[in-house]
Amino acid sequence: MGLEYNVFQEASGPRVTLVYPDTYELGASNFGLRVVHHLLLETGLYTVRRGFHPAADMHRIMKERDLQWLDLESGDPICESKVVGFGISTEILYTNVLSLLDLMKIELRSKNRDQSDPVILAGGGGLANPVPLMPFVDVFFLGEAEAGLLPLMKILCSDLDRDEKLARAADLPSVLVPSLHTGQSVRWAVAEELNIKDAPVDQIVPMATVAHDRTVVEISRGCTRGCRFCQASQLSRPVRERSPEDIVKLITDSVKSTGWEQAGVLSLSFSDYSRLNRLIRGFDEIEGSMHVRISQPSLRPDTLPGLRGKRFFKGSVTMAPEAGSERMRRIINKPLSHDEIIMAVETAARMGARGIKLYFMVGLPGETDEDVLAIASLADAVAKIMGNKRKVTAAISPFVPKPHTPFQWCRQPDHDELWRRIQLVRTNCRRARVAWNDPRVSAVEYYLCTGGENSPDILEKAYRNGAVFDGWSDLFRWDVWKELIAVEQPAGFALDDPLPWSFIDTGVKREWLIQEYKRSFKEEILPDCREAGCSDCGGCNGVVLPFPDMIVSGDANPLPLGEPPVERVRLRFSKTGLARFTSHLDMVRMWTRALRRSGLPVYYSSGFARRMKLVFSQPIPLGMGSESEYLDFQLTESVELHDVLKSISSVLPSGFRITASKKLSGKYRSPGALSTAAEYIIHGIDNADRLIDYLRNNELVSSFSVFDIDKVRMISDPKDGASRPDKIMEAAGVKWESIVRSNILVADQAGQLVPLLAVT
Ligand code: SF4
Repeated sequence: MGLEYNVFQEASGPRVTLVYPDTYELGASNFGLRVVHHLLLETGLYTVRRGFHPAADMHRIMKERDLQWLDLESGDPICESKVVGFGISTEILYTNVLSLLDLMKIELRSKNRDQSDPVILAGGGGLANPVPLMPFVDVFFLGEAEAGLLPLMKILCSDLDRDEKLARAADLPSVLVPSLHTGQSVRWAVAEELNIKDAPVDQIVPMATVAHDRTVVEISRGCTRGCRFCQASQLSRPVRERSPEDIVKLITDSVKSTGWEQAGVLSLSFSDYSRLNRLIRGFDEIEGSMHVRISQPSLRPDTLPGLRGKRFFKGSVTMAPEAGSERMRRIINKPLSHDEIIMAVETAARMGARGIKLYFMVGLPGETDEDVLAIASLADAVAKIMGNKRKVTAAISPFVPKPHTPFQWCRQPDHDELWRRIQLVRTNCRRARVAWNDPRVSAVEYYLCTGGENSPDILEKAYRNGAVFDGWSDLFRWDVWKELIAVEQPAGFALDDPLPWSFIDTGVKREWLIQEYKRSFKEEILPDCREAGCSDCGGCNGVVLPFPDMIVSGDANPLPLGEPPVERVRLRFSKTGLARFTSHLDMVRMWTRALRRSGLPVYYSSGFARRMKLVFSQPIPLGMGSESEYLDFQLTESVELHDVLKSISSVLPSGFRITASKKLSGKYRSPGALSTAAEYIIHGIDNADRLIDYLRNNELVSSFSVFDIDKVRMISDPKDGASRPDKIMEAAGVKWESIVRSNILVADQAGQLVPLLAVT
């Protein structure tokens, strides 16, 4: 439905539609999409739209009725865009890309497309080996968008003909045009620095709940800890950081622009940020002054004992030992000792963490059953420290050998064997809960991320046989994939084998990866270059950021007491058009964000979780519109009513409009409690006479009248479910187009029913 906030419509120029090939709830949270959206909008050269994969039920209807796939902003057919840019964060989304090409009714394979088709562009972290998708995508931008996407977009959106565009694009760095590629190396783009102007501030605020419902600020990119299974660390060398001042400014500006009550900070290794103390002090100030919560990613266990302050231990703490035994952790180059992990857990327990989530992998190279059993014993040791009242979960993921990592030559054990190892943990874990990812899905991920020349055909076959939404356990088609990848079972690679993805140059040297591969089997570790100096991986010029402070103190200052309220405002507002399909909870969340965006001195409750005290009138059922919704809130400073209205009206999403307001003084009662009757207007009734008969025979409403042939006005008790107009009409067997709550009525001193706003 959209109804989002911070959607800029007035952009002009060629239309570019950015697509995250999964549902809106997942895609709208994708930070990569937010960054590219921002970069393109900042140029002012393009009309930027977004599209997501319709959920399975809608997808089925669209195919049955041959409906167009439309963009979110304007409902225009996405196939009419000049460029459709896919943001692909994981290989598991590949079948969805084909599904959306089909939904656009364009040829799946580039070679069969013509001038009238949009240019299909793809980028994102899920393309470290683009081979499986190469016949289906016209152009790839490989690497970080800030480091070269805009020059490419200029060419793709020009009026050159398709072939000329692709030819010019192929000359650009970090651009792969499969139809013109003859094996030459393509450099994975890495931005030299994290420039504050490239960070999205005016992030789009969904009305619906999304996976990560918060504004996001990236504090650093890259990690040189060198875990040998980690692809992100190899693709994003060296570590680049934003300054604490820039981060605080970005969070502050983004919270003001979005109204989000939570801000998330993005980093591959938060506790490795080199100026953490200064940053944490900045977080404290923002949390104190803006009443928002700043959440941080998981913390390295070995840094926890150095973290002082409750902020790091709010709620459940996540830790990623990755392997159960010290031997395996040396093999993967995450040399955490057992004692370090136990000390971290004891710190978390002492600091009040409500639970711990531990991330492990099974199927790692060199892994024995003893190592797998060590996962169970470590998880149980952690659970013992945390006690029965606090939840400890061991989350098990099957290992997937990833391109461009020291383990890229390794073979993933069969999914049966992976399942056997997961079972080993499950049956030996006595205290901790065990959660796991489906090894069959990981087998498909492994096939796609190491896919060679036959993989595009296999991918297309899988899609045509019904594989789509492979990341959703209830939609995953193992029956389809099983047959296909059995024929093509990847077997790992010898060190001198040509790798399908070797034409992608990440900067990290093949020799360094081979040394690391060999070191792993000797259980040799390689310390972080920020700590032990450069090991010449090739990822940068050898100049790295300093290593972080080891002692970090959080919440130095307890949150200041909020200002007391000085006045109360009552608003009447309408909820019409598509907004009538927003749930009451979505609407309440929307109002807290709108009031935060308004910048008004809204009163917050005191205590640990500071909340606005908002009071609404009785909720209306989903699908019903209203001209008469009420909201009360308080201010800590006196503000002219005119200014209150101006500040709020300018930050409301479409579908919501303030229709009246007043200040309340002295004793007052909440709009929810006060309302004694509600007036409804029902439009487009197919049989008004039958409804009137029904109302006459069943005393469900206090009054009703017909007007304009197919419209009925009825007044009933909003708190009495039986007198809900939609329920009445269902019972009466009449159909209608829409219902609007036109008024909330209360009895005045004379006992007359008057609109709520008329009384206090
Ligand atoms: S080149 Fe050296 S300093 Fe740079 S990331 Fe690689 S190991 Fe670290």
